[in-house]
Amino acid sequence: MKKGKMIILSGPSGSGKTTISHCLLSKFPELKFSVSCTTRSIRKNEKHGKDYYFLSVNSFISKIKTHQFVEWEEVYPNLFYGTLKNEIFKIWKLNKHILFDIDVKGGLNLKKKYPNNSLSIFIMVNSIKILKKRLFTRSCYEKHNKININTRLDKARKENNYAKLFDYVLFNIDLYQTKKKAIQIISNFIYGK
Ligand code: 5GP
Repeated sequence: MKKGKMIILSGPSGSGKTTISHCLLSKFPELKFSVSCTTRSIRKNEKHGKDYYFLSVNSFISKIKTHQFVEWEEVYPNLFYGTLKNEIFKIWKLNKHILFDIDVKGGLNLKKKYPNNSLSIFIMVNSIKILKKRLFTRSCYEKHNKININTRLDKARKENNYAKLFDYVLFNIDLYQTKKKAIQIISNFIYGK
């Protein structure tokens, strides 16, 4: 199996990673999204197997014990997220490159494991006030979810300190411009321009 390339998008919740990754997936047919496992509950607009594999805690723990994850994190207290080794192999078998939307620790772990064929991008929001507003808007659609905005903001403050360890930092002030820059960086990485 030929190893493809890996594009790691990291950054705080609410930074715009998901919107940017949707844009990249529609722009680059040779990219495929790495579907992670999570123990959090499913949101209204999400599908099992497309956005995440939604697992019970027991099933997640059993996958940890049997070494099925290339990386996993307790991203929020009692909420686990992880990338299956098999997901990576599956995508490479299709001769595609992989796009990850993953938290900062997980992103850095992947970068360390695959230093030669990965590109890491940190999506930054330089104002906690803006982040709070975005998370609040989103929380209106996910009332059933247990992760509260303050927990996400605390994590965001800590995560911003790790931005310098990524290959690129994109300040997401204007979404159109951020998408444009991301497309340019990835185009260079994939096609070597
Ligand atoms: P959300 O619950 O908002 O979908 O995701 C919460 C955080 O978990 C986001 O920062 C997201 O990028 C991250 N995340 C998603 N999948 C994974 C994964 O497989 N591993 C790690 N470490 N973080 C992940």
